[in-house]
Amino acid sequence: MKAWPDLYIPPLDTRFSLSDLALHDTATSLIKPLGRKDVYRIYVCGITPYDATHLGHANTYLAFDLINRYLRATGAQVNFVENITDIDDPLLERATRDGVDWKDLAHSQIELFKSDMVALHVIPPAHYIGAVEAIPEVIDAIKALQEKGTVYSVDQDLYFEVRSDSAFGTRSNLSQSEMLEIFAQRGGDPLKPGKKDPLDALVWLAQRPNEPGWSSEFGVGRPGWHIECCAIALNYLDIAADEQTSVDVQGGGSDLIFPHHEMSAAQSKMINGREFATHYVHAGMIGLDGEKMSKSKGNLVLVSNLLKEGRDAMAIRLALLSHHYRSDHMWTDHDLVAAEGLLNEMRIALSRMEVAPTDSTIKEIIAALANDLDTPRAISELRNWLAATNAGKVGGSPGELSRAIDTLLGIAF
Ligand code: ZN
Repeated sequence: MKAWPDLYIPPLDTRFSLSDLALHDTATSLIKPLGRKDVYRIYVCGITPYDATHLGHANTYLAFDLINRYLRATGAQVNFVENITDIDDPLLERATRDGVDWKDLAHSQIELFKSDMVALHVIPPAHYIGAVEAIPEVIDAIKALQEKGTVYSVDQDLYFEVRSDSAFGTRSNLSQSEMLEIFAQRGGDPLKPGKKDPLDALVWLAQRPNEPGWSSEFGVGRPGWHIECCAIALNYLDIAADEQTSVDVQGGGSDLIFPHHEMSAAQSKMINGREFATHYVHAGMIGLDGEKMSKSKGNLVLVSNLLKEGRDAMAIRLALLSHHYRSDHMWTDHDLVAAEGLLNEMRIALSRMEVAPTDSTIKEIIAALANDLDTPRAISELRNWLAATNAGKVGGSPGELSRAIDTLLGIAF
């Protein structure tokens, strides 16, 4: 699937050295360095195209965009792969509810998502892959799991035995009862009769009446969600033979920790023997009026609606970056107004001939980002620079600071 247009990212001057990026890893609960590499592999779980793009999505994709930007600024290449779950139960349910064709609903929401990503200055993935176009790879992945003896059928559906992976549970670190509870809440079917373990994950769903299906060796049907990401990641990340893991960063919102990321990691490990990710990185949830923003609660704030109201996309980006990416927090108009004010002040200051020294500010922004993407600290450095400029300090380069903010934070003036 085509992603959205590429962005020009200004290079940083070579006198700014970037240290090894350290990121929080959910599996170990540690902030640990990624390690220096020439090529990084990032796999980020994309949307199911029926409620694009609410601020929770935006917060997630901005976090991984910051990682992408930082790693590129070190001079490395980033093979960034993102999927789009363009066939799944929630999409079909929404299409049925609204009386529209599921393909039309997916298409319109994918286009909306892309235009939101363009507005928010998110670098497009190198590979943007839909579940439907990845069905041949999914079928191959299921066959590979079958060869390992980890797949069984319940009626016409196929399930992956989660306990075949001895590391199952080590990425999410939940108790069995917590796993069962969350599995039931997030699309799992722990009570389905005939399963060997209630947590076993659906990999192929036989075609149901009035639902689409694709032919395969296992009959006509469609992929399960977790095997989709596993198959896409393993096929598009160019995993070198000497790599210990399949991917450097596995990413998504924290609501994907379990079951989605645990399941796709277990399946991937059973296919190629490698631990799936070096870092499992998760963005926090964005709420509204005291509740988590979600389709089921109907309290979604859409990026496209804010843009229609005339809000500045760069201010939306800055408002989201004013909180740490891992923190769950409430979206408030106050944050957006504050971001609009800061952007305005920055634009005025950056248009001056004489500004406060900028090298130290750029170095501080780099240091803040290197420490698990500490954007609140980076933004506070910008405020310090503004105050110094407004106090009459001189000696900086407004052009260089403007470019560095674009390169590292994705805020273009
Ligand atoms: Zn995924």
